[in-house]
Amino acid sequence: MIRPNLHYAELRDSYLFFHIAQKTKAYLANHPDKRLYRMGIGDVSLPLCGSVIQALHAAVDDQAAKETFRGYMPECGAPELRSTIAQFYGRRGVALDDGEVFVSSGASDELGDILDLFDRSSAACIIEPAYPAYVDANVMAGRKIVRLPSSQDNGFLPEPPDDLDADLLYICSPNNPTGAVYTRDGLKKWIDFANRRGAVILFDAAYEAFIEDDSLPRSVFEIDGARECAIEICSLSKTAGFTGTRLGYTVIPRGLERGGMNFNAMWVRNRTTKTNGVSYLIQRGAAAVFTEQGQKEIRENIRVYKENARTLTDALDKIGVWYCGGKNAPYVWLKCPGGMDSWAFFDYILEEIQVVGTPGAGFGACGEGFFRFSTFGSPEDTRESAKRLIELLG
Ligand code: PLP
Repeated sequence: MIRPNLHYAELRDSYLFFHIAQKTKAYLANHPDKRLYRMGIGDVSLPLCGSVIQALHAAVDDQAAKETFRGYMPECGAPELRSTIAQFYGRRGVALDDGEVFVSSGASDELGDILDLFDRSSAACIIEPAYPAYVDANVMAGRKIVRLPSSQDNGFLPEPPDDLDADLLYICSPNNPTGAVYTRDGLKKWIDFANRRGAVILFDAAYEAFIEDDSLPRSVFEIDGARECAIEICSLSKTAGFTGTRLGYTVIPRGLERGGMNFNAMWVRNRTTKTNGVSYLIQRGAAAVFTEQGQKEIRENIRVYKENARTLTDALDKIGVWYCGGKNAPYVWLKCPGGMDSWAFFDYILEEIQVVGTPGAGFGACGEGFFRFSTFGSPEDTRESAKRLIELLG
């Protein structure tokens, strides 16, 4: 009999979003006259920008003619798109060669797949509260997980403890769910730790486009020593509304090696075995994001989400609730007022003002007592939620 991967039995149910869906459904069943203000969603609400749509249409037309039709794409990404992304980094002062950029169909896919590069015996350090997929992907792989709790005291940006015993280090900055962003000095401590130990950092930069403070690093490769220890995983999902369109990119420096093995070369081998590349259409659409016009248009969408963030943080300032995030990230992470626990606060604002957010406890035990609001909703709903929060808690 085939033996299943028994590590799947160790996974905890996707309790967080399932439970939220159940609770909101039950509320609506009991209150059919009410509507909900959904401030918990991690999905974007604005459509793709005009430049991307035009490029997608043009690519569809290419597929209709013999002369322009494209079949299989190169597994690691279209050379033009790899080069476009390398140049995008170059404009920000990070020199990459095209072969260090891999095009993917999204950060989630990549965060799971990339684990193929590492022996299962190396433990993974996950700073909590954390994006739940980090934990689950490692549980599935049977890897030991070292949870590093963060807190209000360290601004949810812990330093590596000297006795940390893990070789795969997850860093998400700007962070989901806390919205906290590592400074250059903060990241440097992790990079030095990783290099001392021979560890590898998996740097999740999915929210880099939300950084507005220029002193904060948008890429781990802005920091000395990162090329010797880091892999960066990024995505157009939140930057450019590609959640349903799907495109991401991964940077693996050519010289990144451990135990005599080269991770860039290993990833080429992996991709050429396990994928047949990202769709031509989507890669053409993605290339439009990096044009001058595309950048202008995506900034306009990001500006809308930033205004949502300001609406929410202004409300929290008025109420006098502690929060972080919102400024350089699309998430606002707040301390539940009155010492409420995360789920009690969830129930309270659902019942009283029909606002739905995400309980912090769902991102790890140290998220208990905190709560996440997303800024990806509509400005109208965000304003109404903010007004209701002030009325209820102000
Ligand atoms: N990383 C983080 C921290 C995220 O919050 C998300 C999505 O919410 C992802 C990765 C996944 O991005 P993608 O849509 O590219 O799979």
